[in-house]
Amino acid sequence: MDEIQSMYQNMGLSPAVYQFGEKALEGLKERFAAIDQIAEYNQAKVLSAMQKNRVSATCFAATTGYGYDDEGRDKMERVYADVFHTEAALVRPQITCGTHALTVALSANLLPGDELLSPVGLPYDTLQEVIGIRPSPCSLAEYGVAYRQVDLLSDGTFDYEGIRAAINEKTKLVTIQRSKGYATRPTFSVKQIGELIAFCKSVKPDVICMVDNCYGEFVETIEPSDVGADMVVGSLIKNPGGGLAPIGGYICGTEKCVSRCAFRLSAPGLGQEVGANLGLMTSLFQGFFLAPTVVAGAEKGAIFAASLYESLGFRCVPSAKEVRHDIIQAVELGSEAGMIAFCKGIQEAAPVDSFAAPIPGDMPGYDSQVIMAAGAFVQGSSIELSADGPIRAPYAVYFQGGLTWYHAKLGILMSLQEMVNAGLATL
Ligand SMILES: *Cc1c(COP(=O)(O)O)cnc(C)c1O
Repeated sequence: MDEIQSMYQNMGLSPAVYQFGEKALEGLKERFAAIDQIAEYNQAKVLSAMQKNRVSATCFAATTGYGYDDEGRDKMERVYADVFHTEAALVRPQITCGTHALTVALSANLLPGDELLSPVGLPYDTLQEVIGIRPSPCSLAEYGVAYRQVDLLSDGTFDYEGIRAAINEKTKLVTIQRSKGYATRPTFSVKQIGELIAFCKSVKPDVICMVDNCYGEFVETIEPSDVGADMVVGSLIKNPGGGLAPIGGYICGTEKCVSRCAFRLSAPGLGQEVGANLGLMTSLFQGFFLAPTVVAGAEKGAIFAASLYESLGFRCVPSAKEVRHDIIQAVELGSEAGMIAFCKGIQEAAPVDSFAAPIPGDMPGYDSQVIMAAGAFVQGSSIELSADGPIRAPYAVYFQGGLTWYHAKLGILMSLQEMVNAGLATL
């Protein structure tokens, strides 16, 4: 449509880059249709959970203080439990982020003398301090919880023999990270996670299996809790918050595990009974309602980015053709200049802070400089369009999110425009 092209031209996007994008899109129709089908299924799943639990306007009322008899909060947790097909759920604004949710889940269910096992290699950066892999005050290691790790085999599959050997009488909890995060391994499908859980339970039937579900929610029609996970854990400023939740985390799972999490989060004896919603219920309900569609848009953006950049010779992980199990897309740009140009384009397309120019900077916990592009309504929200990466070989940016597909599309096209402008990509 000419109107779109001229609108975009006013925003700095050349007709050549726009047309290049349109051509790439022609080949993605089937992929997008399949994503829409998953979103439609997940939308119905969320809707029916809301209907079953008789969500009503009274659920949106703010509570303060102790938050006793908070109907909205309690129903929200029933809705999550029904969507994830679990006995119980803890969904709270008092859980500050994904790392916090995972910390609560781990520290509530591991006692001194217990051992934690990661059968999928090194966990996400922030979890390393939680566990004590990198020494840190108040880590699980300080409280006498041991940690064992089994790395993936070189082809990215599970080392079943190594896992069998690692599980012992002390092994209490197995932590499985679904998304690759900032690692180079593949993201696991829910089916693969189910096989891993079944194996761990065949070796030790009473071991607790927890899945770090960050970035994976609603990408498939099933969740890890449908294939045997005792707990699934994630952040509300990623997929399930639908971009509207301003804070929060969730833990869905067995009554036994989740109630311990509630006692850990508040206090022994208090548990799930306390925790005021502070007026956030509308955002949490509405965000969860929108999440399947938002995740679909983000996934389309990831696939669009991979097919554009792959066709120009840049390595993409996952590749344009691969089946997806999360919303993260890595693009190897091969140079610092490439990373800067890519992030500049993403930033220019943002609804917030579009006038800012991202530059590499030092970050605590990283051994190289990091660049980040984000123009988000919610600080640090990575379900909103964002890109970041460490300035080191292979100079990869990790790109994710987009509250609408059209915004994700424009961000990616603007990133390519900046690459072309800088002479780093030729159409
Ligand atoms: C984002 C993420 C986390 C931590 O979440 P925060 O909200 O940033 O604390 C943990 N694990 C994985 C795989 C993640 O992607």
